[in-house]
Amino acid sequence: MAAPPAGLVDVFRTGWDSWEEPQQQEEKQGAACKRRKAAADVTMDLAILDCPVCCHPLRSPIFQCTVGHTICSSCHDKLPEKCHFCSLPTVYSRCHMVENVVESIKVACSNVNHGCTARMTYYLKEEHEKGCPHAPCFCPETSCGFSGSTARLLEHFLGKHKWHSPKVTYNKAFQIRVHLGSTVLVGEDGHLFLVNMTLEPLGGVISVCCVQPHFTGSKFKCRLALSCTEPSYCQAMEFLTRSTNLYDGFPKDCFPFLVPKMLLRGTGASTTAMVGVTVTPQ
Ligand SMILES: [Zn+2]
Ligand SMILES: [Zn+2]
Ligand SMILES: [Zn+2]
Ligand SMILES: [Zn+2]
Repeated sequence: MAAPPAGLVDVFRTGWDSWEEPQQQEEKQGAACKRRKAAADVTMDLAILDCPVCCHPLRSPIFQCTVGHTICSSCHDKLPEKCHFCSLPTVYSRCHMVENVVESIKVACSNVNHGCTARMTYYLKEEHEKGCPHAPCFCPETSCGFSGSTARLLEHFLGKHKWHSPKVTYNKAFQIRVHLGSTVLVGEDGHLFLVNMTLEPLGGVISVCCVQPHFTGSKFKCRLALSCTEPSYCQAMEFLTRSTNLYDGFPKDCFPFLVPKMLLRGTGASTTAMVGVTVTPQ
């Protein structure tokens, strides 16, 4: 057996393993290596990474009572002297082991099936997913259960439902043929706007919404305009578009734009309306 190091500093620097024979050290390192390889098969109940008091994910600093019950720092500030779990007066101390565990565990974003490859520490998962660009939007057709990122949703709209998808440049008025049912406008930066037209007794009712995975308030203003000389008629409407991931289908609370019956073209399922559209980012 090799002699133990003389100074405490050396003990910390080299670890106790250095006292062992090289063969013993190799065996231990080999075993540690095997354990790390097996880690790919480890499963874990992620609930243990939540504070047992407020149920929010634990993040440093984490505290423990004298018995070892853990608590997050904000709950610790509210219950500084009495353990929430064993109800005993206690002196809390930092729990560095759990802090290390919490920092070392990386989890995948829930949108992995929609193309998100991000991995993050457990306590950052919720924050990431609130803004994850791969969060899904949903096909609004009642009999269709498709969901996917806006890019995949656009492919789906075109491929499966054959919806028309004119491109729009922002801040510029376009004459667009709106079809009965849905038409998709594709913004110059990839934003999708769904234009829906239904037939009502007075004419075609058009509504527009912005399709995006996260509700961020309205980021676009939309102007719809209709004019013709024979018969002489002019009408325009401007509104902030409603944002939706279409989870509940096409929203019912969009502003309705009525195209009078006499200005519609075609009949039945092939009814269309020519409407001027201007989309302006806010
Ligand atoms: Zn807490
Ligand atoms: Zn306790
Ligand atoms: Zn993500
Ligand atoms: Zn669909």
